[in-house]
Amino acid sequence: VVQVKNLAKAYGSNVVLRDVSLSVAEGSVTAMIGPSGAGKSTVLRCMNLLEQPDSGEIVIDGHCINAGKKTSPKSLAALRRSAGMVFQHFNLFPHMTVLRNVSLPQERVLGCSREQANEKSMELLKRMGLADKADQYPSRCSGGQQQRIAIARALALGPRVMLFDEPTSALDPEVGVEVLEVMKELASTGMTMVVVTHEMAFAENVADELVVMADGGIIEKGHPGQILKDPQHERTRRFLRAVL
Ligand code: ATP
Ligand code: MG
Repeated sequence: VVQVKNLAKAYGSNVVLRDVSLSVAEGSVTAMIGPSGAGKSTVLRCMNLLEQPDSGEIVIDGHCINAGKKTSPKSLAALRRSAGMVFQHFNLFPHMTVLRNVSLPQERVLGCSREQANEKSMELLKRMGLADKADQYPSRCSGGQQQRIAIARALALGPRVMLFDEPTSALDPEVGVEVLEVMKELASTGMTMVVVTHEMAFAENVADELVVMADGGIIEKGHPGQILKDPQHERTRRFLRAVL
């Protein structure tokens, strides 16, 4: 579904990504791990053009979305719809109810009516186990609940791929588990997902492919069980020793 080809990105003289290529198959889950500063978030942000790559291509469903460096507003909107993003710090609108957080983007981006958007939002909140929170404000919800609201909001736009950037690392472990369960359920429905995470159990049990990044490049990728059992790269071994 998604291909990243020879992505490169620098901030001034700080080279953050060098020649990153990645292919994400339909219905697969890719977990991305690696030390802080490796460039993991930057890859995800480039994948939905929150960040403009300096060079390289992002291809979704066969369409290059960053052709000619300048993406037209129309294709940018289409892209934002096709790649749903979930951040470490939920980024919900604090002054809107839970329901409104999920329904507003559908009205703005998809042009849904208020009724259509509310109906779809309630369906998704139910699926996330949050139907009873619809009329609350996000501040009255736990971190795990807020993250599930953020997932519902992203899903509401019908994305082709869901991008998760350390969705549980700001959460207490118990609450993180609820979020991981929802993500696991999502994966089992065939959603294509790219997940930056330090949750090795999730990477091992749910991901189809594991990508290890360090110093702006992919140093190793393959079957999660294989890499965790027998890492080929010294940098991977060092990282795994630190997190396991
Ligand atoms: P972490 O595990 O800490 O989240 P990461 O692998 O996600 O790390 P990135 O956030 O992609 O790493 O950052 C990679 C490098 O890019 C870092 O050296 C960071 O300082 C730099 N960087 C990221 N965003 C910016 C920015 N907006 N301006 C300048 N430098 C940036
Ligand atoms: Mg990051």
